[in-house]
Amino acid sequence: MNKLKAAKLEDLKDSFRGKILLPSDDGYESARKIWNATIDRHPALIARCATTSDVVLAVNYARDNGIILAVRGGGHNIAGNAVCDDGIVIDLSQMKAASVDPEARRVTIEGGATLADLDAATQAHGLATPIGINSTTGIAGLTLGGGFGWLSRKFGMTIDNLESAEVVTAAGEVVRASASERPDLFWALRGGSGNFGVVTRFEFRLHPVGPDVLSGLIVYPISEAKRVLQQYREFIAKAPEEISVWPVLRQAPPLPFLPAETHGKTVIVLALLYAGDPKQGEPLIEPLRKFGPLAGEHVGVQPYTAWQKAFDPLLTFGARNYWKSHNFSTLEDGLFDVVIEYVEKMPSPQSEIFFGALGGATTRPAPHSAAYAHRDAMFVMNFHGRWEDPADDERCIRWARDFFNASAPFASGGVYVNFLTADEGVRVRNAYGANYDRLAQVKHKYDPGNLFRMNQNIKPVGKKVAPNQSRREVSHRP
Ligand SMILES: Cc1cc2nc3c(=O)[nH]c(=O)nc-3n(C[C@H](O)[C@H](O)[C@H](O)COP(=O)(O)OP(=O)(O)OC[C@H]3O[C@@H](n4cnc5c(N)ncnc54)[C@H](O)[C@@H]3O)c2cc1C
Repeated sequence: MNKLKAAKLEDLKDSFRGKILLPSDDGYESARKIWNATIDRHPALIARCATTSDVVLAVNYARDNGIILAVRGGGHNIAGNAVCDDGIVIDLSQMKAASVDPEARRVTIEGGATLADLDAATQAHGLATPIGINSTTGIAGLTLGGGFGWLSRKFGMTIDNLESAEVVTAAGEVVRASASERPDLFWALRGGSGNFGVVTRFEFRLHPVGPDVLSGLIVYPISEAKRVLQQYREFIAKAPEEISVWPVLRQAPPLPFLPAETHGKTVIVLALLYAGDPKQGEPLIEPLRKFGPLAGEHVGVQPYTAWQKAFDPLLTFGARNYWKSHNFSTLEDGLFDVVIEYVEKMPSPQSEIFFGALGGATTRPAPHSAAYAHRDAMFVMNFHGRWEDPADDERCIRWARDFFNASAPFASGGVYVNFLTADEGVRVRNAYGANYDRLAQVKHKYDPGNLFRMNQNIKPVGKKVAPNQSRREVSHRP
């Protein structure tokens, strides 16, 4: 940093209530690391915010000094946009406070919280909102891209349950967005990714869930995969919205309920949750056990919070990851053949292929009712390459890309923005679909200088404002 910036840095430090981490500081090394170890970036400064005012200070500092800015929620995103080289990272990881109003069935939670933080707060009252399946994911990035998980067929996408958000804009203003306050911004936040400002607080609607739920794994040998997938397709088309089942194809971990000879063998797993009274769910999930000769099963009534963490051990921070993804409206037999071919070629023991099941409540809102455009998506398939040794990078990445190309003829063309890597080019536009042009206009209103560009970026339409223009000049009051 030059002298001018160094002087201004002292001003920032004086007012900042959280922690400023520079490359020479203890804690910097661990603070710059994110979930995906293939991302190895060195920011000039990490602003570990304690309050919304800290976020305002950091946004103003980056904008006024023309410094590239990244925002870190849970640091989970595969593309690595939570961290930048040479710029400033606004790190929200210490802002996790949650407050639940059980009568109103609402939770307010800060922008650095993880899914585990949200579930812990809401399940204390037997309430939940639909979020993802790996509890260390950040609530912020997940929500801003759309968000889906076990409860989504019943209660919709995460964004369908978003009531309001507190946002620090590029102008450094703290604003509230909801259906009645800045509805354009509220529309854009629900699927437009991190393009519109730093969300410091989310308010979600809650639903009665658990605290115990019927959930677990039904495992078949890979030799049964095609028959299982065909029967799964028929089952899920007619299943009540309370039932969510995600097929996962991978090498079997050494789980105690599986016979030893299955460990390390490729299997197809039906991971399931019933979002209702477990007694009513039992007979409804019974057909899933009858798709062929089982390799094993572990299904029972367990705390919802435990099920939300069930996949965490397979998805820990620090491994190398690369994945590709397609949306599907229907699952064709030809796709199953491609899936089985590529499962056999899986490049590492940790890699996997999964189908996230949508449908039900996720398809009801109109495609233009929020920035998330893919209301036709019934399944999101992810080919997840995961490995440890950098020497395996090329081989593992090649597998995901080849699989992506081979399965493309069966896909809808849409893609979930939260599953895009850093090298997707034109697909960024596909992720926003028919809503892209409107998003670009809202972007121009709230971030004309594209200060927030470390994301799946939407370019502002119209005349751009230089990033170092004064706060007043780029102020946007609706
Ligand atoms: C193992 C794994 C499992 C997953 N499972 C699911 C799943 O079940 N369902 C699902 O929907 N998704 C899932 N995802 C995808 C997940 O939703 C995205 O990776 C999401 O972006 C993660 O959010 P984050 O806050 O942790 O990410 P980060 O990497 O911190 O941020 C992601 C993007 O959001 C921006 N951002 C972060 N915080 C803020 C903020 N407060 N304000 C403004 N912008 C911000 C960042 O700048 C960045 O561009 C999964 C991802 C992983 C790695």
